[in-house]
Amino acid sequence: MRIVTGGIAQETNTFQWQPTTLDDFQRPGFGTLVRGEQILALDGTGTVYGGVVAEARRRGITLVPTTYGGVMPGGRVTRAAFDALSEEILAGIRAALPVDGVLLVLHGAMALEDADDAEGLLIQAVRSVVGPNVPIVAPLDLHTNLSDEMIAGLDALVGYKEYPHTDMPETGAAALALLADTIAGECRPTMAHTRIPLIAPNQSMVTTWQSPLKHAIDRAREMEREPGVLAATLFGGFPFADVPFAGIASVVVTDDDPALARRCADELAAICWDRRDDFTIRPTSVADAIREAMDGRAGSVFVLADIADSGASGTAGDGTALLRGLMDAGARSAAVAQIMDPAAVAACVAAGVGAEVTLTVGGKHDRLHGPPLEISGMVRLIHEGSFLIAGPMGSGTVASRGRTVVLEIGGPGAIELQLTEVRGHPHDLNFFRAFGIEPAERRILTLKSAAHFRAAFEPIATKVIEVETPGISSADLSSFSYERLRRPIHPLDGDVRWSPGG
Ligand SMILES: [Zn+2]
Repeated sequence: MRIVTGGIAQETNTFQWQPTTLDDFQRPGFGTLVRGEQILALDGTGTVYGGVVAEARRRGITLVPTTYGGVMPGGRVTRAAFDALSEEILAGIRAALPVDGVLLVLHGAMALEDADDAEGLLIQAVRSVVGPNVPIVAPLDLHTNLSDEMIAGLDALVGYKEYPHTDMPETGAAALALLADTIAGECRPTMAHTRIPLIAPNQSMVTTWQSPLKHAIDRAREMEREPGVLAATLFGGFPFADVPFAGIASVVVTDDDPALARRCADELAAICWDRRDDFTIRPTSVADAIREAMDGRAGSVFVLADIADSGASGTAGDGTALLRGLMDAGARSAAVAQIMDPAAVAACVAAGVGAEVTLTVGGKHDRLHGPPLEISGMVRLIHEGSFLIAGPMGSGTVASRGRTVVLEIGGPGAIELQLTEVRGHPHDLNFFRAFGIEPAERRILTLKSAAHFRAAFEPIATKVIEVETPGISSADLSSFSYERLRRPIHPLDGDVRWSPGG
């Protein structure tokens, strides 16, 4: 059996002004651009391909790798980047023909400068190369904004069921298995999807607590144990994408039973719809969060999540609200990951380790993440910026935020601020440990992360507090000026109605 594979994965925050370019895909530790054998070398990593490659090997399937490009979430992808990567993938598929199937590794919420549905375009293009009879299956992110075109071009899809996405390898393996079984004639996948008029903040999709979305995901797991159901997926959607089809959707794949698929997809969607008011998230104010952390007992660790400036949601990465709050409160034992500010990094590098500096940091990328902040401190560390991810999410991969400086504000034991050249997403303990900061020994950790941090940080945290900060991944969806999103939609519009089949 020969399966050709490749893909493009990016999550687009359309409120980010800065486009995502081919250079971003190629920047080590920020993007991943791998070809041929480099894809097969992802075997065993905590990535989708980690599971795809392992499952192909286990089944004795010949996996023909083309090109895979992944990158940190950000603004709309340039047409030039999308075309360059797509053409490589399509050329690889043409060269591999004849093949028995195609496994496309996609995110599901990628938008281009001039198109809202990049995945739909890529799937269509692949379909036109392989024709109608070669099955195409895709593993997809839980934050997929599902379009009709994606469904039309795929034979089956499987979404992650965990947020933090600790099940990327399992999902990749499940997609590969479903494709292989289809090729072998052991099943005939048929899909139904249900999109409901509901858009939700990321925190309401978390699966380390019984969030509203998790209620439906739990039911999807049950369905997958029922006869005839091959895969059941809940997409929470990515709400910071102003595209018509953003929001929550379900997809169920059955073995040649369209009525069962329809019934299951509607049931999963209805679970979300019935709980629609529970998807509202009410974060804690900066001052209250810091006060609670400072009042905590000795040895406690409070994670203050800067949820509106989350690196994994394509924000500015230079929001200052939490740092300002820490300074105003005279906080001690506080470590901040992180503020992107290449000019400040350059100034600290020029001053050198041990130098006292006064700088204006953050708030420079746009006007949506808090104003710049003047700080004084001592340069304690200058680091080239790259390090290994320990996991549980993304283990075995390398992250980099460019040159990184640790600045000590308020003397030893007060605030340790990481300044970085590139925006990052601190979801792993090594975002501190690599820079000489032991997170389990700090009272306050502030993280620019919406939810992925929970996989690594909940085990060491006394408490996690989602903090109300300004930014383009805010849980307050009414603060966004949507223009392309379909309306009416809950909770932006009053009295929105939906019923299965209605
Ligand atoms: Zn996601």
